[in-house]
Amino acid sequence: MSASIFTKIINREIPSEILYEDDRVIAIRDISPQAPLHLLVIPKAEQYANVAELAAGDPELLAAMVATAQRLAEEHADGEFRLIFNTGAGAGQTVFHVHAHVLAGGLQEGTLVGN
Ligand code: 5GP
Repeated sequence: MSASIFTKIINREIPSEILYEDDRVIAIRDISPQAPLHLLVIPKAEQYANVAELAAGDPELLAAMVATAQRLAEEHADGEFRLIFNTGAGAGQTVFHVHAHVLAGGLQEGTLVGN
């Protein structure tokens, strides 16, 4: 299988605005923002296609993604955020390397954001 677009970003083969990186996760600005702050938190491991697989296979890594989302929302917005994991093509997932959308800053109550 060829590398996902996010693995290419992690490997610096594709440029992106990286806001955070450690040995397990990376956080970038979404190229097509749907909110004033729209980040993607991505585990470096690419074997998990979606959040359900990640939760079953490595719950600590999922917890690390959530902690990263919280920290970034505090650093770049008011600390409150919406965390979205599109799971399956029918739910809007286009990249099958698990990632969390972190949306923050002036979100409207009751709206769901999709691409
Ligand atoms: P999904 O639709 O799979 O939940 O989310 C994929 C997200 O990745 C989309 O919001 C899309 O805008 C973003 N995206 C796709 N390609 C790139 C890219 O090359 N760079 C960045 N920064 N974001 C990307």
